[in-house]
Amino acid sequence: MEQQFQSLTIFDFQAKFPDERSCLFYLSKLKWKDGYSCPRCGNTKYCNGDKEFNRQCTKCHYIASPTSGTLFHKVKFSLLKAFYIVYYVSTNRKGISSTELSRKLGLRQKTCWMFKQKVMNGMKSSGQFKITGKAEVDETVVGGQEEGVRGRKNNKKKLVVFAIERKGKGVSRVYGKVIPKSSAKELGSFMKATIGSDTEIKADEWTGYTPLKKDFNNLYQVPSGKKGENFPDLHRVIMGFKGWLRGMHHQVDHLQGYIDEYCYRFNRNKIKEGIFDNLLLRMVKAKPLPYKLYYLSA
Ligand SMILES: [Zn+2]
Repeated sequence: MEQQFQSLTIFDFQAKFPDERSCLFYLSKLKWKDGYSCPRCGNTKYCNGDKEFNRQCTKCHYIASPTSGTLFHKVKFSLLKAFYIVYYVSTNRKGISSTELSRKLGLRQKTCWMFKQKVMNGMKSSGQFKITGKAEVDETVVGGQEEGVRGRKNNKKKLVVFAIERKGKGVSRVYGKVIPKSSAKELGSFMKATIGSDTEIKADEWTGYTPLKKDFNNLYQVPSGKKGENFPDLHRVIMGFKGWLRGMHHQVDHLQGYIDEYCYRFNRNKIKEGIFDNLLLRMVKAKPLPYKLYYLSA
């Protein structure tokens, strides 16, 4: 039974992916596992393309590679190293910093950082599994004084709203989002995306939550208590996130990606096996994002 919950070992990984070709082959299997369809004209018939694993449309002759149209599109280093990054990010219990990746793989730290942002993009919530049963919602400030990294210039702060699903005595699911302000509109849009409308939701007495009672029938408000004592589970999750972030990333830029990574890992805590495959599949199915976007986004 125990075997079942073990993650892919480095030996399994190396046996499965000895070279570039094995990675390309694996991506092609994932990409077309539900069949081929030409991204340009939608035709479902293809012939072999110019290179192994490429597929050429029989109608418009467009050639698709296993990486085109995925988060592996135009990666500027070997695909094998890209797979190693996905492997380390997905199997390390607490994730891995770009500095550590750089050391392990002999790539520049910035190169690792940028590709890791893509991996984190694959960790974004699918929005398919909303919180049901019992939920708690609260906002917190990340950065600024709170981070308390001495001697480091760190004046920026960001507001984050978190929601948890409570099951039994524990927390079964976590979502979080960077919001510009804690207005009913911002809180509401996050809550509608992550929490079922019949869920029993506990929030504090902040006026931003009050108008949302029309969308959530079972939303009730209680005083937050000293240091959030009425929201012990949620506050434990928030403390956990902040502690993890401190060891990983010393600023609040690109915060949403780190929230996504934290929630992804948290929500999958009990199903370690398959996490590498799951993440690869998400990266193949996600739309490619130009690196530039990350410099502009939250
Ligand atoms: Zn076509």
